[in-house]
Amino acid sequence: MHDDRNLVESRLKRVLEERIRPAVYPESVPLEVSIWTAPDEPVPVAEGLAAPRTPIATGARWGAPWGTSWLTVSGTVPDAWAGRTVEALIDLGFDANMPGFQCEGLVYRPDGTPVKGLNPRNQWVRIAAPAVGGEEVLLHVEAASNPVILDYHPFLPTGLGDKETAGERPQYRLERIDLAVFDEAVWQLVVDLEVLGELMAELPVEGARRWEILRAVERALDAVDLQDVNGTAAVARRELEAVLASPAEPSAHLISAVGHAHIDSAWLWPLRETVRKVARTTANMTALLEDEPDFVFTMSQAQQYAWIKEHRPEVYARVKKAVAQGRFVPAGGMWVESDTNMPGSEAMARQFVHGKRFFLEEFGIENEEAWLPDTFGFAGGLPQIIKAAGSTRLLTQKISWSRVNTFPHHTFLWEGIDGTRIFTHFPPVDTYNCSMQGEEIAHAARNFKEKGRARRSLAPTGWGDGGGGTTREMVAKAARLRNLEGSARVRWERPAEFFAKAEREYPDPPVWTGELYLELHRATLTSQARTKQGNRASENLLREAELWCATAAVRARLPYPYEELDRIWKTVLLHQFHDILPGSSIAWVHREAERTYAAVTEELAAITARAQRALAGEGDGTVVFNAAPHERGGVPAGGARPAAPAAGGCTVEARPDGGHLLDNGLLQVAVDARGLVVSVLDRASGREALAPGAAANMLQIHPDFPTMWDAWDVDSFYRNTVTDLTALDSLEVAASGPEAVAVRATRTFGSSRAVQTVTLTAGSGRLDLDTEVDWHETEKFLKAAFPLDVRTDRYAAETQFGHLYRPTHTNTSWEAAKFEACNHRFVHLEEPGWGVALVTASTYGHDVTRTVRPEDGGTTTTARVSLLRAPRFPDPHTDQGLHRFRHALVPGADVGAAVREGYRIGLPERRVPGAAEVAPLITLDDDAVVVSAVKLADDRSGDVVVRLYESCGGRARVRVAPGFEYARVDRCDLLERPTGEGATELRLRPFELVTLRFAVEGGGGEPG
Ligand SMILES: [Zn+2]
Repeated sequence: MHDDRNLVESRLKRVLEERIRPAVYPESVPLEVSIWTAPDEPVPVAEGLAAPRTPIATGARWGAPWGTSWLTVSGTVPDAWAGRTVEALIDLGFDANMPGFQCEGLVYRPDGTPVKGLNPRNQWVRIAAPAVGGEEVLLHVEAASNPVILDYHPFLPTGLGDKETAGERPQYRLERIDLAVFDEAVWQLVVDLEVLGELMAELPVEGARRWEILRAVERALDAVDLQDVNGTAAVARRELEAVLASPAEPSAHLISAVGHAHIDSAWLWPLRETVRKVARTTANMTALLEDEPDFVFTMSQAQQYAWIKEHRPEVYARVKKAVAQGRFVPAGGMWVESDTNMPGSEAMARQFVHGKRFFLEEFGIENEEAWLPDTFGFAGGLPQIIKAAGSTRLLTQKISWSRVNTFPHHTFLWEGIDGTRIFTHFPPVDTYNCSMQGEEIAHAARNFKEKGRARRSLAPTGWGDGGGGTTREMVAKAARLRNLEGSARVRWERPAEFFAKAEREYPDPPVWTGELYLELHRATLTSQARTKQGNRASENLLREAELWCATAAVRARLPYPYEELDRIWKTVLLHQFHDILPGSSIAWVHREAERTYAAVTEELAAITARAQRALAGEGDGTVVFNAAPHERGGVPAGGARPAAPAAGGCTVEARPDGGHLLDNGLLQVAVDARGLVVSVLDRASGREALAPGAAANMLQIHPDFPTMWDAWDVDSFYRNTVTDLTALDSLEVAASGPEAVAVRATRTFGSSRAVQTVTLTAGSGRLDLDTEVDWHETEKFLKAAFPLDVRTDRYAAETQFGHLYRPTHTNTSWEAAKFEACNHRFVHLEEPGWGVALVTASTYGHDVTRTVRPEDGGTTTTARVSLLRAPRFPDPHTDQGLHRFRHALVPGADVGAAVREGYRIGLPERRVPGAAEVAPLITLDDDAVVVSAVKLADDRSGDVVVRLYESCGGRARVRVAPGFEYARVDRCDLLERPTGEGATELRLRPFELVTLRFAVEGGGGEPG
């Protein structure tokens, strides 16, 4: 037989595109269109519906960047169309090659009822089936002219990412706006041919199945009269019935499809636009659920539900109804799909608390699946948090984006730093925007690494980010893929159904221990420093506010600010979304975030001050409050005492080289004439912390122009070029004792300036390092280096409720790929008997490398903190301007001291007028056990909730001594639901977290 395969395949492609697809709408008439453009920000729906319109012709340009236009489309169904299916086609000027990230619309009826969204690949609105001739059509469209930020020439700097710099130029041209006849038979033929054509391309050429499909397609194409596609579509479909009816092989891969739209809570659009993106997509999806009885849709992020509840109640009512029917499935149980590297212990816990509580209160639903398809890596502390929230499973596909190593599993147990194991699935389809393409389905089946032991995977199906979710075409394709020879088998299933079956079929899956490190997007630990500082400051201030408000409620009957704290927590949690905290959003988002964090700071400071005033009592002295989890300067953890006289004993003297020598009896620190720290002597051990001849607190600058993803990525080659910033403008003594001594160095480089202050305080074994940078560089990476005289194969980096170890060497590709990583408040390096901690107040990115010195054979292990970057996409002015950083070096620190200093740097003592002593609500007798939260219970019962954890990675036996009367104590989950009887004598596993709830008779703190 002659091989005519390419000929038939080419014929299919052309006939489908040029003849069959256009025949889906064989007849059409134009609709009348009129427009009103809101002068600035979006207006309420009623206002948009009522606003006066002016006529606009198709082909006209519309839509300044970030504008909102209200369109009215009207017309009459021609008499000749009576009995047929009629749809409106509304093309706002979409680029169908991009299924989102551009203009969008939401269609309303004249009474304000939402109909569905308009998206690049979803431009139809059903008018009638069957139609009545002469029927009037009147629809309104709220159209958002969101500019395209990321397109075919990606990562070019643009002013479009901020309304203030975006200009007024119309972004779109109104295209086809018609009333049209919809020919269902032709549409079905299109789907038949797409499914078979795409499947055929994935099948082996040697196999008979491929040729059977080819011949059937050929017969169907023969049956189509190209001059009368509508009249012959049904006949052509009959030629395909047999190949479509041939069942899947018994061993076929099983795909649980779930309708999905990954909507970033902010990214290339501001937060306010996400509210509308969610409304459009959910309007679409509730409409599709009504049309398609087998279809199931899932949406995560409680915040997005809360948005439509508040801003689009008419859409929310439809969502709520579909949730009650079990067809619209809330997923994930988090407030947002957050980053998981950077959020602190409590914040990571509260993501689940607030997400789960919203789903429970609104829908009576609690799901067991953490849903984070797009998050940039997963911290080793997360499994324990997921479990403590009452969940057991995790879904993500993001690790498939790793550039170096291929992750070995798709379904496995993920073991966290404390030993908690979570059943985890990475969809082998490798996308959260599956569109039921044959290529995707075949890739999932081929890629699935558990073959032979397990058979099923999940496919999140639908366009996100303004693509409008799942389409009716995807549903139609899925129906054909239920049981089709040569293909994986597809059916719509809820995530919980998938996981239950996956767990059953795979009782002994492989185990992955430690973090799930994404070998990409490493610069998200540094970009947009102010957003990161706002996050860390807010987390610390929330701890203080909860602690002192709970203390004031119990000790002084001060009303507890439940409402305020709930609202502020949700704001902070929202900003941990995986494009906000990582710094990968447009300028508008980060500019707003900075303002929001400032407001949060101000409000929390006022809340804390109110509580502290109530506790400090009368008197003209000063009371010192210690919110840190360890005793400090005689003030107990979580308590307050009248201030003691300050200690002295610090000295600073000139060095012959023009530098200075600082001493406080614990540390002796030499700063040379270049303003660099050249010696840090730990007097207790007599040990020098720095490598011989090396200089610490040295700023280093690298060119930083990654191959793509500017705000997200730093590529390994950045290290090939480095400049040490040693040139000095001035060096001065900034404090000369006896309570503290400090030396300040000022240097200029490029267009920027840095002021570095090193400070020794009396009684402290910590060298404080303040760095102020007025940053005006482009595509550069700024770090501060600490070359330490330590030999170790691994170092500890703090994460949620503990720390994890990373290698200091690069033996394998897995280790080499971790060239930039995340820490919370410290990294800690240690030889047996002596260690050193580098403590960070607000930075997350760091690297640790080592060299062996030829002179003495010793090892220099250099820890560097990442301070600033200057990418130009998506924010062309990322991180320009003034920044302040605080770090500290703690020689002689064991890991417990690293934990302690990490807390202290973010929780300074607060000095308040008064004279009272405030006893802590909770006292622990083991410093390795750390209190992460003291608060009143969210249910407003007045019960006191305490969360604590073992922080050093060892075993602990601790006595918890409550400083108040209580009726009983229960152990709880993160949602403060009792899980078992509590006790005040606890034995803890390494890094184990425990939540205790103390029932207080009569309750402290009425709702404030
Ligand atoms: Zn995302």
